[in-house]
Order: sequence, then structure tokens, then C-alpha cells
Amino acid sequence: MLAVVKEGPGPGFALREVPKPELRPGWVRIRVRAVGICGTDIPIFEGLRKVPYPLIPGHEFAGEIEAIGEGVEGRRVGDRVAVGLVIGCGECPACRRGEESLCERITEIGIHIDGAFAEYVLAPAKALHALPAHLSFADGASVDPLASSYRGIRRLNLEPRDDVVIFGLGPIGLYALQAVRAHGARHVIAVTPRPGLRSQMARALGADALIISEGCHDLAAAVQSANHGQPPSVVIEATGKPEAVGQALQVAGMGGQVLLLGIFHQQAACDPAQIIRKELRISGSFCYNWDDFQASLDLIARGLVRAAPLITHRLPLARIGDALSLILKREAVKVILEP
Ligand SMILES: [Zn+2]
Ligand SMILES: [Zn+2]
Repeated sequence: MLAVVKEGPGPGFALREVPKPELRPGWVRIRVRAVGICGTDIPIFEGLRKVPYPLIPGHEFAGEIEAIGEGVEGRRVGDRVAVGLVIGCGECPACRRGEESLCERITEIGIHIDGAFAEYVLAPAKALHALPAHLSFADGASVDPLASSYRGIRRLNLEPRDDVVIFGLGPIGLYALQAVRAHGARHVIAVTPRPGLRSQMARALGADALIISEGCHDLAAAVQSANHGQPPSVVIEATGKPEAVGQALQVAGMGGQVLLLGIFHQQAACDPAQIIRKELRISGSFCYNWDDFQASLDLIARGLVRAAPLITHRLPLARIGDALSLILKREAVKVILEP
């Protein structure tokens, strides 16, 4: 089968024929029909994030079951499925609580073991979710980034009086925007460095106001004036930029919440007095568990969150090089590859 293989450290990858993965008990083999390129795939290809080599990356995917391993029940060849990337050990305290994403020995498909930038991929039966007939494979491949965003949002326990500000309009921010809308937040404000494709999408997906942060001297004041003169009760950070942490604390209102969804590669400085004086509640969120993934799939199935508007490009697997350069040039929001 054709696969994208990260063969060793340093930048680059190979596009080549490899053997089809061998089925094992409790797992299924999936014919990949759609796989998204994630922000975390980029440092893997650049060699900045170390993975076990050789590795076939790719973890945002959906497809059809092509073969079923021994002992798997309730699944049939041809079933359409979306797949969560988290495989918990099943035995550590976090796994026992159903929090597989906090597993001490977590295995992630496409990061620790071979993933879906290939025609076929293996997945354990316990990671499968049935993809409803009215959803596309691209919808199925979009559940992973939505779930990564939605896990944190569920835990905010949003109320109709909440005003939410979102920093960053990549896929995670754009999914957060739709999910907080689905939860009935009163007012949603999106913050992005400059106008463009992403800010247009935020408008189309229901942002009440948009703030361009580049050249803005007082972000907290700009947010307040966009929010009827009030500071917001919830700030969602989805940029991963170190300076955004301090800004998020500054922008949040009294007794507010700050949710950190961005992936930080550098340390960030902030003023802890903001947390104390305003009694802020800060939460982090990493990946998702089975239930977060299923809830996210349900949001898409019910039309409460839309994946299609974020998908700017669909390309065959062999054009992954073009796909990566579209992402690096920020000409794409979400690229779906169709192996
Ligand atoms: Zn991802
Ligand atoms: Zn575990």
C-alpha cells in the first residue's frame, strides 16, 4: 500500500509502498477514506517532535472496516467508522476512571504507532465509533480536532449568561467557537492577529464580534467594548503563543474561567495576581477520551457543529507535500487527504 513514512530524525518524509499492516486479535484494519493534517503532524515532519522511527503519522481519520481481528464483536466488514487516537493501557488509575487521555502509558495512533497517512491502518475495536450514513468521511476525520477542543469546553459548564472570548482561529479555535455556540453562550468574540480567511470563517460560523489583535494597544479594553462594556466570563486560549497566556488572564472578568487549549512549545510568563484578585479558574485540556469523541461526533451528526466549512482543500495522499506547504503558507485551514 502507499504510505507516508517518517523514516528518521530531521526534516522530511518518504512517500513509498509498504506492506499492508497485519491484523491482530481485538483490532480491525480500516481502508482509510479521509485523513486530516493536524498542527501536531507538522513538527513530526519537521523532525522537531520525536516519534519512534519509522512511523506512518496521521491520526484524524475515518474509513471503512476492511478486515476484522479475532475476538472483535459487533462490527462488520464495510462498516463506516471514525476512530479516536487514544489507546489507554486500561489498568492505570486514570484509565480505571475512564480518562484514557490521562493514561500514564498512553498510546496514540499516528504518534506512537502507525497511523492513517496510508491506504490502510489498524485500530483497536475499542477506539471505533460508528459513522452515521448522512456524514461524510471528511466529517468523520474532523471529529478528532473537534473532540480535542470539546473536551475542555464541556468542563467549562457554560451557562446562557456566559460571554466567551476565543484567542486563535485555527481549527481548534473555530471548533471551540461552534461548540460554545451549541452550548448557548450569550456572546462569542473571536480574536485573531490579522483579517483573512480565518476571520471570515469565524464570522460565518457565528462569532458575534471579531477583534484584530495586531496593532491593538489595549486588548482588554477592545474585548470589553466588543462585549457591551463588560469583561467576558470565559476566555479560551487556542493559539499556543506564550504571550497569549498573560493576555487571557488580563482579559477575563471577575470570577471568570480561562481554558488553555493551545499547545505551547515555550514557557509563558504571566501575572499570578490576576488569578488571585479575580479568583479565576484556569483549566487545561489534552486530547480526549472515548466519551468526548462520541459527544463530538454527535454534535456533527446533529448539525450543531459543521466540519465542512473548515475544510479548504482535499487532495490525494500522494500530494501531501503540496498539502503541507499550503498549511505552512497559511493558505489552508484544514486539509483532508484521501488515500
Ligand atoms: Zn490532531
Ligand atoms: Zn492507562
